[in-house]
Amino acid sequence: MIDMKQFHDAAFIDDAEIRSTLEEAKNLAKDKNAVRKILDKAREYHGLTHREAAVLLELDDPDLEKELYRLAKEVKEKIYGRRVVLFAPLYVSNHCVNGCTYCGFHADNKSMCRKKLSMEEIDQEADAILALGHKRIAMESGEDPVNSPLEYIIDSMRRIYAYKNAKGDSIRRINVNIAATTVEEYAKLKAEGIGTYILFQETFHRPTYEKMHPTGPKSNYEWHTTALHRAQQGGIDDVGTGVLYGLYDHKYEMTAQLMMAEHMEAMFGVGPHTISVPRLREAEGVDLKKFPHLMTDTQFLRLIAVIRVSTPYTGMILSTRETAETRAKALELGISQVSAGSCTGIGGYHKEIGQPDRADTAQFKISDDRSPDEVLTWLCEDGYIPSYCTACYRQGRTGDRFMSLAKSGQIRNICQPNALLTFQEYLRDYASDHLKELGEKVIAKEIEEIPSDKVKELTIERLEKIKDGASDLYL
Ligand code: SAM
Ligand code: SF4
Repeated sequence: MIDMKQFHDAAFIDDAEIRSTLEEAKNLAKDKNAVRKILDKAREYHGLTHREAAVLLELDDPDLEKELYRLAKEVKEKIYGRRVVLFAPLYVSNHCVNGCTYCGFHADNKSMCRKKLSMEEIDQEADAILALGHKRIAMESGEDPVNSPLEYIIDSMRRIYAYKNAKGDSIRRINVNIAATTVEEYAKLKAEGIGTYILFQETFHRPTYEKMHPTGPKSNYEWHTTALHRAQQGGIDDVGTGVLYGLYDHKYEMTAQLMMAEHMEAMFGVGPHTISVPRLREAEGVDLKKFPHLMTDTQFLRLIAVIRVSTPYTGMILSTRETAETRAKALELGISQVSAGSCTGIGGYHKEIGQPDRADTAQFKISDDRSPDEVLTWLCEDGYIPSYCTACYRQGRTGDRFMSLAKSGQIRNICQPNALLTFQEYLRDYASDHLKELGEKVIAKEIEEIPSDKVKELTIERLEKIKDGASDLYL
């Protein structure tokens, strides 16, 4: 039953509690026994409270730090195995009525070339994204009730799901990253087959939020901070959150992020499905020198490790905002999903010969411009299994059903084989010769690692069917 009462009370982000957590953390971090106790608790894979997590962010003992990093890797492998899920963002419109000071799309940026994809252009983009091998997209749009109302978002979703390329492939999961809205509108998105609804908080620190969002509907902190709750009320039980790191102090933000996860868990029995860790990047009309809270790489990697051990069952997403080098390190510490071959402009995947690049419509500059084939090669060489799996949400394994599988350790037994099946399909349809050879070796090795004989047998049988031309097979 959909609860239509619009939840919009952000009191769960309690500034005094965050301040006191950070104060206490500074002291506890000096006490090795206290830190060890927290690490021991994290080793049980049940996560940590925001108070415990804050201590790990403060610690500066090199041995304990190493232990934390080892543990983050261990937690990730225990829950998810070595599979890494791939996706691409699809920007459908950069019209925006908001004044977010950090974003190239903000309403006052007159030099931004505004564009919204027509339905024909959506087909072209879907075609180009499929040609990169993707099956999962994150649909992105600016907020504009006239140019991109919910009806436009829904039409775009329908068009994308309906599109089939020459090989008969289609996009199998659309995650949606659009502005905060009402329970009714979230229920409509659910009815259209949304994967995860993603909304970044940007910053939990109210005064900074108000400064960064001077104009437009997004300037309402209360409404924005409670959007994922309303999405849950509207029936979307996979929701994704994230802070835009660089707007305010990252220790404050991470503590608040975990408080939000705790509140959602208490209210709905399930926390966020994913946590993204975007860092502020250069953008058209945005001067990074005006942002005093940019994080160093070291701080960033620590943050990822702490979130990993604190919320072991939550997927962690890293985009091409980060360099190849940082992505490699972050993957070790807990990231489970990465984008590849991304474009943050409107209509940037489909490049017509003679047409200019769509860089003039881009939201921000990316730092990893490797092709998906190159990204997959890197993943294989580093011992990971690339995955294009979209099975869970299509099998109804969402929300608390997904979480209970994850908590019982079973998700790994599903993810690993599904990663192999979808990777086999990628190799058959889209891989370079070099990657084909490398990938076949990875698959052969990983089959042997499947613990259950029955699952192993089923996987081998389905891999053969895929080699013979079958598509979209999963457990
Ligand atoms: N317009 C919607 C919104 O703001 O929630 C959804 C999509 S917006 C295109 C996606 C995200 O990009 C924003 O939530 C913000 O965190 C991020 N972003 C904006 N400007 C950025 C920048 N300069 N560098 C990195 N990420 C940025
Ligand atoms: Fe618009 Fe989103 Fe950019 Fe803000 S972050 S200006 S809402 S596209």
